[in-house]
Amino acid sequence: MYQNKNMAGLYLHIPFCKKRCIYCDFYSTTLGAAWRKRYVAALCQELTKRKSYLKGEELETIYLGGGTPSQLDEDNLTTLFQAIATTYNLERCNEITIEANPDDLTPSYIELLQNYPINRISIGIQTFHDKMLTRLNRRHTSQQAIEAVENCTKAGFTNLSIDLMYGLPGETLADWEKDIQQAIALHPNHISAYHLIYEEGTALWQLKEQHQVSEVEEDLSLAFFSTLIQQLTAAGYEQYEISNFSLPGYASKHNSSYWEGTPYLGCGPSAHSFDGLYRSHNPKDIVAYTHAIEKGLSLLEVEETTLYTRYNDYIITSLRTSKGLSLTYLKDKFGETLYRYCCEQAQPHLQQEMLLQRGHSFFISKKGLFISDGIMSDLLFIEEE
Ligand code: SF4
Repeated sequence: MYQNKNMAGLYLHIPFCKKRCIYCDFYSTTLGAAWRKRYVAALCQELTKRKSYLKGEELETIYLGGGTPSQLDEDNLTTLFQAIATTYNLERCNEITIEANPDDLTPSYIELLQNYPINRISIGIQTFHDKMLTRLNRRHTSQQAIEAVENCTKAGFTNLSIDLMYGLPGETLADWEKDIQQAIALHPNHISAYHLIYEEGTALWQLKEQHQVSEVEEDLSLAFFSTLIQQLTAAGYEQYEISNFSLPGYASKHNSSYWEGTPYLGCGPSAHSFDGLYRSHNPKDIVAYTHAIEKGLSLLEVEETTLYTRYNDYIITSLRTSKGLSLTYLKDKFGETLYRYCCEQAQPHLQQEMLLQRGHSFFISKKGLFISDGIMSDLLFIEEE
């Protein structure tokens, strides 16, 4: 939709977790190893059957997300990569990422990963504070996280990303600074850092409802975010998206393709797909999903996007990135009326220098980053019922 690069992405959801972290609202299950073989077979069927969804566009990126993809064993990975290789032309596919939990990244598992075309590992560390890791019900320790990154580097993986989380219950600014400094000391090429969200339905949400934990104050949240930006940029990382930082040349191509509107096929329960016009998703239910695929059925729910939903998606995704919102593109794709609407809505933010205009693009300014949700929301077009 936004770019016409004739490239596409493939997302494969691996919905297995050994145990559930208290804050998580991603779809995953603690069903045992017995389910994995059967699930991977179903996933291969789906990715094969839906090949035509991408209308012949070549794959540029593949992303194994979860859940915990590093729970897949050798048989699972071999089955999966054979199906991908026989279905898709991977000649121009230059980024294949697997998400991994630190305690899965033992030297022998890292060696196993080297047998596949995986060239990027995204490691879910969240924090280096052991007490907090336990509190969040994470499986790993701080030491395991450090060793995981070091072992991947030693094994020759040159594109590593780590995930961090801030605004944790009881976290101080000093705690967060230590996390950032430890992350920098490991020299990953990419760091994603998200503020903890108390998602309804999670164990963390219940703890909040029972007044056992509370959200951090807004001032402290802002201090966490500004410290993050200041320390990572001082260490040479570019903030190419609100929550994502990379060393030059290491922005995630897969995530960037979501933000740029590249078509993508998502397979597995809860996975979303987008072909430029229609969005679709599978239900969040591994059992129903697997049974349906085995019977040759599909439980996909399909939704046609409107001009307005595509405009809104463009506002939200483009303004999050350092590439900004292209006014030329906006006028071309969404027409004169929405272009004028966007420019009018932007005026107050431009006057307050929360938004900046450079050439034919809008960007959120440094001070605007702290109220980015509000700016984007003001530029959205709300359809009347
Ligand atoms: S390991 Fe990841 S997907 Fe699984 S519960 Fe924890 S945060 Fe969620």
